[in-house]
Amino acid sequence: MARKILAAGNWKMNKTASEAASFIKELAESVKGAKNEVLICVPFTNLETAVKLTEGTNISVGAENMDYHDSGAYTGEVSADMLLDLGVKYVVIGHSERREYYNETDKTVNAKVLKAIEKGITPVLCCGESLEQREDNITFEWVRMQIKIALKGLSAEDVKKVVIAYEPIWAIGTGKTATNEQADEVCADIRACLREVYGDDVADNTRILYGGSVNAGNAAELFAMNDIDGGLVGGASLKVADFTTIANA
Ligand code: PEP
Repeated sequence: MARKILAAGNWKMNKTASEAASFIKELAESVKGAKNEVLICVPFTNLETAVKLTEGTNISVGAENMDYHDSGAYTGEVSADMLLDLGVKYVVIGHSERREYYNETDKTVNAKVLKAIEKGITPVLCCGESLEQREDNITFEWVRMQIKIALKGLSAEDVKKVVIAYEPIWAIGTGKTATNEQADEVCADIRACLREVYGDDVADNTRILYGGSVNAGNAAELFAMNDIDGGLVGGASLKVADFTTIANA
């Protein structure tokens, strides 16, 4: 089965709800009929606006994080049911910025992936090595470990519902993109790991994105690589023209 390319934007902590509204109206016009599947992951405060304004368009909406508890005394957190009630379909889990600044661990990432799948939200599971780990030649082992822990407890059928995003930390927001080969070889190794643990069907049907300074100029080459099924895009997803090019790459 062919894996459909996914162009996923990650807005991070950018755009107020009113800025989001005008941006999304423009984007919806611009990506109408785009070649790739289009997803925007936006701050919690923009979700309601984003879901409403994308109704009837080819744009899906995701959150950038969620908690793994169902409800209760977790001040400042947002649950899967809260996202579902708004009509949110995707959630980014384990982004390196959350791991670095907000103590996200492989264990909490796993709990969140399990909760998202249980509730029917598609997790965009992030993994990736630091520059030091790359220089120490432990990229493959590190990423495999992150993936194995994050997916622990899921059935093979459920693993296929996860979108994996390989994002080398040294390439995020730095303008330093991994080469096509560097990006593809890690995505290929993630697929090999899925094949070993879950079998051919899961390996062949799970989407693996690359993220790290994807832009309008490099997306087409990256997405053409064998094991790269699209991109998780930060900076360039904040510009309608650039993200439109990526949505057609
Ligand atoms: C990201 O936000 O996941 C990301 C890869 O950011 P950027 O495209 O800006 O490097």
